[in-house]
Amino acid sequence: MQPTGIVFDVQRFSLHDGPGLRTTVFLKGCPARCLWCHNPESQDPRPEVLVSAQRCVGCGACVAACPLGTPEPGRPRSAGERAVCLRCGACVDACPTGARRLVGRPATVTEVMADVLADRIFFEESAGGVTFSGGEPLMQSEFLVALLRAARDAGLHTAVETCGAVAWRRLRAVAPHADLFLYDLKVFDEERHRAVTGLSGRQVLDNLRALARIHDDVRVRIPVVPGVNDDLDGLRHSARFVAALRGVRHVDLLPYHATGATKFAATGRDYPLIDVAPPSAERMEACAAPFRAVGLEVHIGGDGHECTDRTAAE
Ligand code: SF4
Ligand code: SF4
Repeated sequence: MQPTGIVFDVQRFSLHDGPGLRTTVFLKGCPARCLWCHNPESQDPRPEVLVSAQRCVGCGACVAACPLGTPEPGRPRSAGERAVCLRCGACVDACPTGARRLVGRPATVTEVMADVLADRIFFEESAGGVTFSGGEPLMQSEFLVALLRAARDAGLHTAVETCGAVAWRRLRAVAPHADLFLYDLKVFDEERHRAVTGLSGRQVLDNLRALARIHDDVRVRIPVVPGVNDDLDGLRHSARFVAALRGVRHVDLLPYHATGATKFAATGRDYPLIDVAPPSAERMEACAAPFRAVGLEVHIGGDGHECTDRTAAE
């Protein structure tokens, strides 16, 4: 039987997830709970119902269709509704306005690759390929290896975006099958890392060090979130750490933006950074300086796909 995973999105023509034009496949499930998460709907490894209160016309069809009768028309999902939800999708099918949406679907390797290979011509024209992101794709590492093998068999360039908060054995198993790693490094300081991602950063650093020893194309990505991780002292520590890694020469600094806010609302949760504004161009240049000073090539920008719990994944 083919490996099956849970995919929550496939994005075509991406310019920021590796070289050339890329198709990015987003796998569901993430161990981190970053305050600024751009894809909060990716965190739960299971399919999940999102609700747009703005689109709801209060018809009550979802309540009638739900075997539990728990939806509350016109309101964001409550913690109680989320906790008992069977994820059956009956309310979604019944909703006449599209206010309810089921995010995440089981997919086989063949199904995912059929989607990806539809874009082959664009990969060939642009020296692009396929990128597997999330969520944290290594939470589904067996599925991921199967996808990477299939992509390589099809002659595609392969990239994996990871937050690194996974057991080393998972990363080691995936590493030989990926041409490029996009590795998120959020905060160097351990206490701060726990506070803003819900996870210890030690595993992230240890895994990055180990990966850079066995893989020669690892690109570090750092989201720059004002007041959270844009202090120059912390960035200098990160820069010195990265500069000492054999397989890393490039760093992408991704300016914070608040696109996650609407998605937090759709998942029924409050957005913790509601008052934070994106960093200015001058601030981004200042944040780049410590990395340039140690000889790293810095690229400012990107679409912020880096996404990046409370406990490290098994
Ligand atoms: S997915 Fe199923 S159980 Fe969950 S709210 Fe909708 S109908 Fe009810
Ligand atoms: S079925 Fe859709 S539009 Fe009707 S009450 Fe439920 S969420 Fe609102």
